[in-house]
Amino acid sequence: MKIEKNVLMSEKTRLKVGGPADFFAEARDIEGLIEALKYSRQNNIPFMVIGEGTNLLVSDSGIRGLVVKICFSGYKLVENNAFVTASAGTNLMDMIGELAERGVAGMEKMYGIPGTVGAAVYGNVGAYGQETKDSLVSVRYWDGEKAVLINNQECAFGYRTSIFKQCKDWIVLEAMFQFSEGDRNALKKTIAEISSVRDSKYPKGLACPGSFFKNIELSRLSSSQLESIKPFLEKVKGNKLAAGVLLEAVGAKGMGVNGAKVASYHGNLIYNDKTAKASDVAALAGQLKHLVLEKYGIMLEPEVQYVGEIS
Ligand SMILES: Cc1cc2nc3c(=O)[nH]c(=O)nc-3n(C[C@H](O)[C@H](O)[C@H](O)COP(=O)(O)OP(=O)(O)OC[C@H]3O[C@@H](n4cnc5c(N)ncnc54)[C@H](O)[C@@H]3O)c2cc1C
Repeated sequence: MKIEKNVLMSEKTRLKVGGPADFFAEARDIEGLIEALKYSRQNNIPFMVIGEGTNLLVSDSGIRGLVVKICFSGYKLVENNAFVTASAGTNLMDMIGELAERGVAGMEKMYGIPGTVGAAVYGNVGAYGQETKDSLVSVRYWDGEKAVLINNQECAFGYRTSIFKQCKDWIVLEAMFQFSEGDRNALKKTIAEISSVRDSKYPKGLACPGSFFKNIELSRLSSSQLESIKPFLEKVKGNKLAAGVLLEAVGAKGMGVNGAKVASYHGNLIYNDKTAKASDVAALAGQLKHLVLEKYGIMLEPEVQYVGEIS
């Protein structure tokens, strides 16, 4: 296990901002992960795990501690393709695409979500009405001492959340999903349609973390908040109002702080024009939150994971 020092997180994240992690290691197997954790314990330094860094906003001052990138990957189909067990570092999109080729259905609408299986469980990622929790059977995680197996219910899934967001020291090792038989051509057609929408929203190479803020769950709003968004109620889908609707209403499109910009075509998409710092991204997100709070009395919550001291 190679432990590197002062590794720039701007090189490890899709948003391309972030200062150095004091220590950085790539865990290529579970033994490597355990070794890295042992190093952090013996040297009394905090640790965090990352996948492909597609959903992270890392502070300009970096991360004090050890960052372990989960690199163990691979999946296998069992019981006549009804179940798949996937290692935490498996690329979700590749897996969904390969399964579609074999006529295995269940996550095809999530095709195009970047990142790893472990992070998909952590954040219960989803798109177009499918979420990780809908196919997930069980998760094997490392609790610091041993591997533990829990079922779907025990993962406490919610909108973009799971028990792993509460228990930050738990590390997803492997997940089992249940799939069904699908028509290969129909699956490929769904994937192609979704890819074309996604490609126009997130052009190749765009330095962004996906949607910046979570959508607004109507069930969590007070009656006065509901009243304030009344003009937008016909845009509600599945009990949620897209954060982009309110952001666009406050003029977010095209706003910017130095190299951090809101896309001209999407109010909930902050990207780095290659010159931004984490502080610019955070300042822009802060301005957007303030505008929405002032006008609609609703506090937007970031979907992006902030890491380190961000002013
Ligand atoms: C262009 C673009 C489009 C996107 N579209 C969507 C979308 O449609 N729907 C959606 O839900 N998300 C979307 N996202 C967000 C992103 O794809 C997901 O959050 C993804 O799960 C992040 O995966 P990652 O491996 O890059 O995780 P990272 O960004 O590296 O980490 C994210 C979090 O997961 C934790 N984590 C990572 N691995 C593990 C593990 N093994 N055990 C425990 N915790 C772990 C990390 O500590 C961190 O807190 C999009 C992002 C981009 C850039």
